[in-house]
Amino acid sequence: MSAMSAAHTFKGQCLCGAVKFSITAPTLWCAHCHCSLCRRAHGAGFVTWVGSAEERFALDDPEGQLCWYGSSEDSRRGFCSRCGSTLFFQSERWPGEMHVARSNIQGEIDRDPQAHVYCQSQAEWITIGDELPHKQ
Ligand SMILES: [Zn+2]
Ligand SMILES: [Zn+2]
Repeated sequence: MSAMSAAHTFKGQCLCGAVKFSITAPTLWCAHCHCSLCRRAHGAGFVTWVGSAEERFALDDPEGQLCWYGSSEDSRRGFCSRCGSTLFFQSERWPGEMHVARSNIQGEIDRDPQAHVYCQSQAEWITIGDELPHKQ
């Protein structure tokens, strides 16, 4: 995927299309998160996130459908209030970053997933079938 131009812009949206966004390359990282909060918020075995610098992220939400839920003291999760798609994550632990759900970005981006994180919380019914490094 690294053949993509550094000037490329990646577009994405929620399920209903009310909340759209774009990210201007380069992204910062991409990782599979196995933490229990991500699993619950997304109804998924794990969540693949892409990190973007906030200034490279642009929101297009003309109807104001994006809602933020404070999922912990220092973190919040953004979702579409019409269709419920869970899209974004921000935390004081990663200042200046917008974390975007990989599944909501259309097509290829400038990097593949690089690691599994929070593996100590991994669901018992998930089997990791790749050789990517595991990080706390
Ligand atoms: Zn929506
Ligand atoms: Zn997580």
